[in-house]
Amino acid sequence: MKTNLQSSKSDGFTFNESWEEKKKRAQEIVKKLIETYPREKILIGNPYKTLIHCIISQRMRDEVTYKVWRELFKKYKNIETIANTPIEEMQEFLRKNGVGLWKTKGEWIVRASQIILEEYGGKVPDKIEELMKLPGIGRKCANIVLAYGFGKQTIPVDTHVNRISKRLGLAPPKVSPEKVEEYLKQLIPKDLWIYVNHAMVDHGKRICKPINPKCTECPLQDLCPYAKGQIDKREIR
Ligand code: SF4
Repeated sequence: MKTNLQSSKSDGFTFNESWEEKKKRAQEIVKKLIETYPREKILIGNPYKTLIHCIISQRMRDEVTYKVWRELFKKYKNIETIANTPIEEMQEFLRKNGVGLWKTKGEWIVRASQIILEEYGGKVPDKIEELMKLPGIGRKCANIVLAYGFGKQTIPVDTHVNRISKRLGLAPPKVSPEKVEEYLKQLIPKDLWIYVNHAMVDHGKRICKPINPKCTECPLQDLCPYAKGQIDKREIR
């Protein structure tokens, strides 16, 4: 029986290929991406540090995020110290280190740490629904914690994954990131899910950039409906 996603006839998505053909193409795409952007280490292996990293990273450049994140754990060491830090002090720390939205993020970091300590015995929950109850944690961050903190198979959909999946015709051009996640999870074998975010982020930074993607240099060119003129970039949201 066909699922809702399979029977979707969204414009700019089918390209006269069957669902099975699309699945095959999705697999080839992911395999090529993994070959092109190999990662020795996928797992950060520390759900709490991953969660704090994700809060800091929102609307921030990776290099700045990483620097602030390291400084934060140098200064505050662990979840107990952070949960006991006055919110104003954490906000000031973030402000001084050039973090945007420092007020909100400072509060999220301290409050999320307090909740994890008080309600989860100091252990970050490993269920998406529980993670999304924490301040500052939306679906993308929750999936990032599950993938890179716990090593679970899932697909965090950030701006790169959203855009590239749509250019590659693996999700319809106008759907939400949540829907993109659903499409990808149906098209890609589960044992490859954890690689998709990393590989598409690397690809999005180097080749499939938000503006002017370098299609002629792209290893996915033959597999890509955008490169073949089958998708209008104005359609993609
Ligand atoms: S061919 Fe172009 S649009 Fe398609 S994935 Fe590569 S860079 Fe992106």
